[in-house]
Amino acid sequence: MHFIFLFFRQFLSLLIFTPLLLALTGQSPYAQNHFRVESLPRVVKQGEVYSIRALGPTSLKSIYVEFQGVRFPMAFGGQKGAYEGLIGIDLNTRPATYPTKIVGTDEGGGVYLSPFSLKVEKVDFGVQKLSLPSSMVDLDTKTLEQVNQEARQLKALFQVFRDERLWRGVFIRPVEGKLSGAFGLSRIINGKHRSQHTGIDLQAEEGTPVLACNGGMIVLVDQLFFSGKSVILDHGWGLFSMYFHLSETQVKEGDRVHQGAMLGRVGSTGRSTEPHLHWGIRMNGARVNPLSLPGVTKTAEKIS
Ligand SMILES: [Zn+2]
Repeated sequence: MHFIFLFFRQFLSLLIFTPLLLALTGQSPYAQNHFRVESLPRVVKQGEVYSIRALGPTSLKSIYVEFQGVRFPMAFGGQKGAYEGLIGIDLNTRPATYPTKIVGTDEGGGVYLSPFSLKVEKVDFGVQKLSLPSSMVDLDTKTLEQVNQEARQLKALFQVFRDERLWRGVFIRPVEGKLSGAFGLSRIINGKHRSQHTGIDLQAEEGTPVLACNGGMIVLVDQLFFSGKSVILDHGWGLFSMYFHLSETQVKEGDRVHQGAMLGRVGSTGRSTEPHLHWGIRMNGARVNPLSLPGVTKTAEKIS
């Protein structure tokens, strides 16, 4: 009984003196278990990529941002204790305010947590009307089966999470060229709503070299029904880039490539009416605008 009383007294003094001590030293009792968030969007747009930067202890062995149950990893930035990462908002994310958090774990199992809320704003992506040969639109059973099989193959590919980050810093455009198909457009083909444009189209002459937007591993080189001759790069950490409608490819699956490496040449293979590059980006499943990647020039010309 005496022991319990002593314990209670100690507990009581802790209760009284700890806040007093903390008030004197100017520290909040939980300060050491939070990150100091340096750059963080509060309001984001559908289909955009954002940078996140936080300061925390140098001892963290893992750190990520969690948004809608999806984890976007972060890593050491240039400065000691500074962590950086990217978060991608899928183009069809319902506009709302979402609870989001930065979570870190240190070697000893200590958890660091910074919750925040992220407001997703609606974007009017616009509509594009196209006329295509009906053989490319009204598919027979066999072709439909092929298209579905290809869609499953790509879906499985995007679910692979590579722990190693192969991309660094800024991204480059795979080809210079006029923006001929903007990101997110609703497509009305031969009078019917058919699909949404989940990448961008860059108009360029047939044969123009197509370059890797950043370092990565070639995970697909194939001829697909809609996208024609295609190359897909895995940049690690759930980030993929796609290059479609090529006239020829110059890499093979399993190749490691650096930023600027030549992947193939611009063409018009698959469902395409003129030579152009379709460039798409997936970030942990989110379909995002390639032009919102860090470093990619945003001065793309308006669609004529
Ligand atoms: Zn396209």
